[in-house]
Amino acid sequence: MIHKRKLHSNDRGIGMTSQGTRDRLVQTLRKEGISDERVLKAITQIPRHKFVDEALSSRAYENTALPIGQSQTISQPWIVARMTEAILDGGQPEKVLEVGTGSGYQAAILSQLVSKVFTVERIDELLKFARRRFHNLRLNNIYVRYADGHLGWPSQAPFDGIMVTAVAQSIPEELLEQLRVGGLLVMPVERNGQQRLITVRRLEDGFDETDLGAVVFVPLLSGLA
Ligand code: SAH
Repeated sequence: MIHKRKLHSNDRGIGMTSQGTRDRLVQTLRKEGISDERVLKAITQIPRHKFVDEALSSRAYENTALPIGQSQTISQPWIVARMTEAILDGGQPEKVLEVGTGSGYQAAILSQLVSKVFTVERIDELLKFARRRFHNLRLNNIYVRYADGHLGWPSQAPFDGIMVTAVAQSIPEELLEQLRVGGLLVMPVERNGQQRLITVRRLEDGFDETDLGAVVFVPLLSGLA
């Protein structure tokens, strides 16, 4: 089920941020293998140009990662779509945890598709901007926390889905523990000198892992900034 959120008319954008430009991005994503219509619809609904600096807004609907300050990036639309598809696969998650709020774009996409999004960020400055964007776009089902995401969000656990948008050497135990049985975690993990996008499904008696392929992410760091 798509949870509809009303957007302001000036969020629809003009010229390089217009609906036509957004539709072209969706066509590109389709060509590159994204097929979940719910995800593609969310991508047309959320104005990505509101999640980058104004100077970069003309490039917001290109299928590329862009800088968001503090040496961080807003992920490439294709990877946002791919990870969202993975989280939705095989069910309708209600509560999803994201680690690495960054610009807030991934959380905004999730907010259209699940009941509640919990997102954790370790850089205060980024969180401040993300919070403002959620408020301006009236995305009222996103809950933010300033913390080291390695620890997840224990008081809100268990989650139906957990998404980590920064790469780690291994999957943090704390996150696996906060996954509901039947729930899915998706995150990039460093394996043999390469970043791989991994999904882990929690089963009654263990975990089932799948490798979705090579990716590029900024690192998951420890502590607060
Ligand atoms: N999902 C973001 C992409 C952000 S890039 C978006 O849609 O824009 C990765 C983010 O993870 C950065 O903002 C970085 O500060 C954050 N991050 C890295 N390590 C973290 C940690 N331990 N806890 C929380 N956030 C972390």
